[in-house]
Amino acid sequence: MSEARRDDARPQPQPQDPAALARLVACEYCDAVYQREPLADGERALCLRCGGQLYRESTRAYARLLPLVLAALILFAVSNAYPIVEMDLKGVRTETTLWGAVRALYADHMELVAMLVFATTILFPLTEMLMMLYLLVPMARHRMPAGFERIVRGIRQTRPWGMIEVFMIGVLVTLVKLSTMAQVLPGVALWSFGALVVVLAAMLSFDPRNLWDYLDEEPR
Ligand SMILES: [Zn+2]
Repeated sequence: MSEARRDDARPQPQPQDPAALARLVACEYCDAVYQREPLADGERALCLRCGGQLYRESTRAYARLLPLVLAALILFAVSNAYPIVEMDLKGVRTETTLWGAVRALYADHMELVAMLVFATTILFPLTEMLMMLYLLVPMARHRMPAGFERIVRGIRQTRPWGMIEVFMIGVLVTLVKLSTMAQVLPGVALWSFGALVVVLAAMLSFDPRNLWDYLDEEPR
């Protein structure tokens, strides 16, 4: 991945030129201001002062994100509505949803594991998907969502907790714990959960910083 450091090559734009003003980009780490230059595919523009990434070439990447978020939300609903495992305990067959598994862990005095499973498999992924949806639906209709800046920062802060590895470990911990208690058979939700992991991986490959591009393209 090559880096573009040519923002200092041009003279600073005159403040009275609105077109030049629209092309200004501020470093979100140190507030240094640069003139935006077109980049080739895979190039990044870095801040000369602090080395932080200003932007990368990915025109309107967020426009492709809404179908992914919707698919992820549907799969998430199915994954939570249907049993993720069926258990056969000495001929007595029971089934549990993800939420049921969390409650079972909690009732089994594994409060910390229960909270971890709940946070990584339900709370943080759902929070990020809902925040994405909150932004992307108005953006698709060329409207500015209220609290845009706060939500984008919220997505970036939620992301480390909704990481796909944590997500999968949460499920594996649940399944391993349950398999020691009973014979475990995969339920409907396990398959939709597998699909959700794939869709979420695609969704998480999106850099939420690209959402800032919307501010340049859709002036309020
Ligand atoms: Zn900087």
